[in-house]
Amino acid sequence: MTPDSAEPLLSVRDLRIAFAGIEAVRGLSFDVHPGEVLALVGESGAGKSLTARALLGMVPGGARTGGSVRLRQTPGSPPLDLLTATPAELRSVRGRRIALVPQDALSALSPVHPVGAQLAAAIRSVTRLPRKEAKARAIAALDRVGIPDAARKARAHPHEYSGGMRQRAVIAMATINEPDILIADEPTTALDEERRDQVLKVLAEQRETLGAALVLVTHDVEAVRRHADRVLVMYAGREVELGPAARLLGRPLAPYTAGLLASLPREDLPRRRRLPTLPGTPPVPTALPPGCAFAPRCPLATEFCHREMPEPWTTEGRRVSCHRWDEVPRLAAELFKGPA
Ligand code: SF4
Repeated sequence: MTPDSAEPLLSVRDLRIAFAGIEAVRGLSFDVHPGEVLALVGESGAGKSLTARALLGMVPGGARTGGSVRLRQTPGSPPLDLLTATPAELRSVRGRRIALVPQDALSALSPVHPVGAQLAAAIRSVTRLPRKEAKARAIAALDRVGIPDAARKARAHPHEYSGGMRQRAVIAMATINEPDILIADEPTTALDEERRDQVLKVLAEQRETLGAALVLVTHDVEAVRRHADRVLVMYAGREVELGPAARLLGRPLAPYTAGLLASLPREDLPRRRRLPTLPGTPPVPTALPPGCAFAPRCPLATEFCHREMPEPWTTEGRRVSCHRWDEVPRLAAELFKGPA
């Protein structure tokens, strides 16, 4: 789905999140459209998870926010700004319109209740479905995410599930009330490659079955390549690039994106060849350099880059924030080279 093909479900404008006056998210603007997979990509500390929390109206206490996160409501109703919504308004949309697939499956499920009972309770928290029907729907949800013998497993506690099954149960929990938008925050961190692929496959299937949009927060560029429609690359709380996944990953216009991609294993290179890594580490919000935040690590940085922050520039149906974006496709292969 292209960014302009439908009215967005969620519109983020000039999102800012600050702690004690220090901005960790610095002026993000993007839309989430019905049915699309939008990946938020970047290294740790880029502001991805904070952004994801803002999409759920769950910014940590003590943070100051600016801008807006508007969720589309029924026709004729004004959108709900999740940054300023009341607790009652947030309760009315969480789980039902927009739901979180958390990173840590163990902490997302109560250890003291059977999984099926937890799913049924989640259903009954937003509907008046009789207990028996809620239970049947809970079993169907476990079955839908590929839990074998779902009726029996519904009676089991989380500790009786394998790690992979727990992650599936968490996806069942997030999708139980058929939300319009799923927010998956690093859903595959700490999983081995096989389980990572399984979880992403289940997420993709759920999204397709329910027609939900998925915001996938990840540092796993391979997962993005396989599953995302659009990508928002973040660095130091700002947008670096935003555009269709195939175009952006196939021809990055920002040196940072080129560096992330260069560090990925490639099938056309010998397995033992060492891959290039981005030099240095991302800046902390309290010590951002002036100008482009990536300049200290960027092989194309000029004196101008160190002085002036690049603003988003629209080209080729995508946005990029880099003073030298038009040189990047020609130079990308040379920018980040692995050890000889
Ligand atoms: S603006 Fe300059 S320093 Fe920043 S990414 Fe582009 S070339 Fe590199």
